[in-house]
Amino acid sequence: MNVLVINAGSSSLKYQLLNTEAGQVYAKGNAERIGIDDSFIGHQEGDGEKEKLVVELPDHRTAIKHIFEILEKVDVPVDGIGHRVVQGGWYFPESAVVTDETLAEVREVAPLAPLHNYAEADVIEICRDLYPDLGNVIVPDTAFHYNMPEHAWRYALPRDVADGLHIRKYGAHGTSHRYIWKAASEFTNGACHKLVSCHLGSGASLCAIDGGKSMDTTMGLTPLDGLIMGTRTGTVDPATVFYLQRVGGYTVDEVDTMMNKQSGLLALSGVSSDSRDIEEAAEAGDKNCQMAMDMFCYRCAQLILEMAQSMEGWDTMAFSAGIGENSDVIRAGVCEKLAWMGVKIDPELNKVRSGDVRRISTPDSKIDVLVVPTNEELMIALDVEDLLGDK
Ligand code: AMP
Repeated sequence: MNVLVINAGSSSLKYQLLNTEAGQVYAKGNAERIGIDDSFIGHQEGDGEKEKLVVELPDHRTAIKHIFEILEKVDVPVDGIGHRVVQGGWYFPESAVVTDETLAEVREVAPLAPLHNYAEADVIEICRDLYPDLGNVIVPDTAFHYNMPEHAWRYALPRDVADGLHIRKYGAHGTSHRYIWKAASEFTNGACHKLVSCHLGSGASLCAIDGGKSMDTTMGLTPLDGLIMGTRTGTVDPATVFYLQRVGGYTVDEVDTMMNKQSGLLALSGVSSDSRDIEEAAEAGDKNCQMAMDMFCYRCAQLILEMAQSMEGWDTMAFSAGIGENSDVIRAGVCEKLAWMGVKIDPELNKVRSGDVRRISTPDSKIDVLVVPTNEELMIALDVEDLLGDK
C-alpha cells in the first residue's frame, strides 16, 4: 500500500510518501512558513537532491494542494493518508479511521496541545474535503501510553479535579517508541523482553516497554516533563511556576514560553539548543556546554533506572532519534553513568555510523545496548494499512 504520511504543525507540514511492503520512500518534504511570508516547499524524491520550491502558501489548504500536485509527478498512486496527531487525550487507545466523530475528538482534546491539534484537525478536514476517495487515519502520539497501569498515569491531585479536567500522564513519542520496540525485537530475535526505549531528539522521552506494552514514560500531561530537552526544562519542581509568577512577576504565558522555548540545553549551554554545537563548544573547553552535556546524561541515566524500576527489571536499552542515533559522546556519557549497573559498551562499536539497527554493548554487558534509527512514518503507514486494508 502507498501511504502519504502527514505531520502538520501550525505553520509547517512535513510529508512522506512510502510503500508499506518494501518500506520504500518515494518522496518526502516539508512545507514551511505557511501563512507567513517567504513560504516554500522542500521536496526530495527517493535519494535524489532536495529541491526548494518557492510558492505562496497562505494556508494549509494551499500547501496540501501543492504537495499533491508535486506528488503527481512522482507517479505513485496514493492509497491512503496517515496523520500524526500529537495529542489523542482520553479518546484514542490506538490509531483510528477518520470519521466526523473521531475528528471532533481530536478537536475536543486540543486544549492539551493547542499548538498542534487544531492545525492537525484542520489538515485532516482539508484532506477529506479535497480527496474524498482517500481514507484518512489518525495516529496519535499518545495512544501507545493509553493503557499504562493507573499507578503510572495517575497524578496525586484531588481525584475530582484530575478526573474532571482529564489531568493525567499522556506521554508522547508513542509511535516512535512502538517502532523502536518492534525493531529491537526483530533485531534480537525476540530476546528483548523489558526494553528502556530512549528517544533522544530535540524533544526527548524514555519509555519502559514490557513485552510490547508501555508501562511508563517520562513525558507527562504535556511533552514538557521528564528529560532535559533542546529548549524545554524537563522536570522541575512545579512550585517553580508559582514562584516565577508571584516573585519573578512573569505572566502565565511568559512562563510557558520560558519553560518550553528558552530553557533546556539552550539555557544551560548559553550557546545553542543543538547538541552538535554544544559538543563542539564543550570539546573546545566551554564549561557551560560541558555542564549541559553532563546534566543531560545525568538525567537520562537517572530516568532510565526509573523506567527499569517501573518494569522491575530490564534486559535491553535502545538509543534513538537525532541525538540517540548520532551522538556517540552522549551515548557513552549515559552508559558510563550506568556502568555500576553492569552496562558496558564497546567504544569502537559505539563510534560506528550507520543507518541500521546495531548493538554497541560488549558480550559481557548485563544489558543489551542497541542503537535503533526510528521510523515513525513507517509505523504510521503500517497503521493505515492495518485500518484501511491493502489496496
Ligand atoms: P530530532 O528531533 O530527532 O530530529 O533530533 C534533532 C537533534 O538531534 C538536533 O537538535 C541535534 O541536537 C541532534 N543531532 C542530530 N544529528 C546529530 C549529530 N550528528 N551529532 C549530534 N547530535 C545530533
